[in-house]
Amino acid sequence: MTMDKRTFDAVIIGGGGAGLRAALQLAESGIKVAVVSKVYPTRSHTVSAQGGIAASLGNVSADNWHWHMYDTVKGSDYLGDQDAIEFMCRNANEAVIELERYGMPFDRLDNGKIYQRPFGGMTQEYGGPPAVRTCSVADRTGHAMLHTLYQRNIAARTHFFEEYFAIDLVMDEQGHALGVVALGIESGEPVLIEARATLLATGGAGRIFSATTNALINTGDGLGMALRAGIPLEDMEFWQFHPTGIHGAGVLVTEGVRGEGGYLVNKHGERFMERYAPNAKDLASRDVVSRAMAVEIFEGRGCGEQGDHVLLKLDHLGPEVIHQRLPGISELAKKFAHVDPAKDPIPVVPTVHYMMGGIPTDLHGRVVKPSADGTQTAVPGLYAIGECACVSVHGANRLGSNSLLDLIVFGRAAGNDVIAYCRENPSARTVPSASLERISARMARWERKGEGITVAQLRDEMRKTMLAHCGVFRTEAVLQEGVRKMQEIAAKLPDVVLRDHSKVFNTGRIEALELENLVAVALATMISAAARKESRGAHARDDFPERNDAEWMKHSLYFADGHRLDYKPVRQQPLTVDAFQPKPRVY
Ligand code: FAD
Repeated sequence: MTMDKRTFDAVIIGGGGAGLRAALQLAESGIKVAVVSKVYPTRSHTVSAQGGIAASLGNVSADNWHWHMYDTVKGSDYLGDQDAIEFMCRNANEAVIELERYGMPFDRLDNGKIYQRPFGGMTQEYGGPPAVRTCSVADRTGHAMLHTLYQRNIAARTHFFEEYFAIDLVMDEQGHALGVVALGIESGEPVLIEARATLLATGGAGRIFSATTNALINTGDGLGMALRAGIPLEDMEFWQFHPTGIHGAGVLVTEGVRGEGGYLVNKHGERFMERYAPNAKDLASRDVVSRAMAVEIFEGRGCGEQGDHVLLKLDHLGPEVIHQRLPGISELAKKFAHVDPAKDPIPVVPTVHYMMGGIPTDLHGRVVKPSADGTQTAVPGLYAIGECACVSVHGANRLGSNSLLDLIVFGRAAGNDVIAYCRENPSARTVPSASLERISARMARWERKGEGITVAQLRDEMRKTMLAHCGVFRTEAVLQEGVRKMQEIAAKLPDVVLRDHSKVFNTGRIEALELENLVAVALATMISAAARKESRGAHARDDFPERNDAEWMKHSLYFADGHRLDYKPVRQQPLTVDAFQPKPRVY
């Protein structure tokens, strides 16, 4: 197959918050950088982030980065790497102020400073009263951030491959990343984008589940590419269920609603979180609130005819607060739940939201994998940032508003490392033809039409299997059955055909390529979840209800070849301060 070739110093796959922040760092320092995005960059999923971005600015309540670090370590159920968490929390204020200077229109306090709101698990004085730490732009923070970064990138002359689908990484025999092959979605033509450094910023993969707050584009493509390049995935058993997805629609209602004073009630009108988390109540961490909701529903205190959801009450906040601080939520509630939240509560259920695991990296965004002597070594020229990466700052459970922070802190850090890498590696390496032939063969596979199982059928089967067998609460029998079913689904991939239209549409081919990535991520999730015999953060096992630090204080690594699992220790030593020792996690 012939393909056009374009050459850059660095190529970034993904035009969301992480990709754009890294691109800006590179473009502004004179590096020739390209961003590849399968959707127009400002449609990337960062656009849907509602509630805000965490930084211990202390504009509303007293605050400092060390308290933020403590909350993040505790929120992660002690699985987060403390050096990475320190790095993120220490750099948060500077990163947010930088966004403000780029022109991000943060909400303001009367004194002109950036407005902040409380979010789950964020406290003062190491677990004391709530910290008011989350900076927002009404309930459209991600939208404002993405547009700000995009405009800055345009000014800095970043090159965009808009609506190009990245198929696979180009690697040489020595394991160097040399760029990517992408398919023009409009033209159907492949292009080789050669670069000395390649950054994966492809976002999440929530579409492996049948109920999710994630958009159709969140198909884990970067994770699939990494697995096919021989790189393992870290901590894939940890998926966050957000407590407040709109019942029946999956659309998210930001935690900012509870930050502004909203709360959950069961069918008796009882504010049940007071029983589960007497101090933090509705602002306990997300795994705690989601489990409490699941128990309420399971024990017959759910609302509605089926008793299958609870209610989020915010009418007491008054129309003014709702209009000013939560306009998007009001719109979503009316559209998807047919209620006006200024008058009636919103029906909500725990819904898959965020992937804590991903492609293993170090603090500079360099992708790392285990070498023969057991140490972690960087894959030359390859980086991962944002939700597709696992650095790991979120461990077993992410705190709300820490993801947007992760994007910009590690997007910037990776950008700085790429600048150094490009200086140290001034000449391009030769792209081996074998790598391109492998990618061409993968594309050719999806020209096939005819009778057989369709992409949509297999995708539906996978999504339902994942929700049924890898939900809020998990057991050995249910997980093992899930592994068996997922292996059967993966085995059916070669039988999938595209619809027998007169011609194959590019979008059809792309959905097929996405399906391969989705199945790879789903398998990684199920196998990693079945293997972890403890409860930690978002991974709640009915049969192993306790956290087991003696045996399980370690990150899992899933390899595509043979679906093998390995483990690596948690980095418990911060950079400059004392470590937070594991304690029982109560809110
Ligand atoms: P994304 O923004 O998802 O971007 C991924 C990019 O990769 C896109 O440009 C896409 O086109 C591209 N891409 C993917 N695959 C390919 C491919 N094969 N070829 C080419 N391009 C590809 N976090 C917070 O901290 N605060 C919040 O208030 C908040 N609210 C949220 C609300 C919702 C509804 C959701 C779902 C999440 C929320 N999060 C929030 C989480 C946070 O928004 C995400 O984790 C974060 O935005 C992900 O950013 P990203 O840059 O990693 O990826």
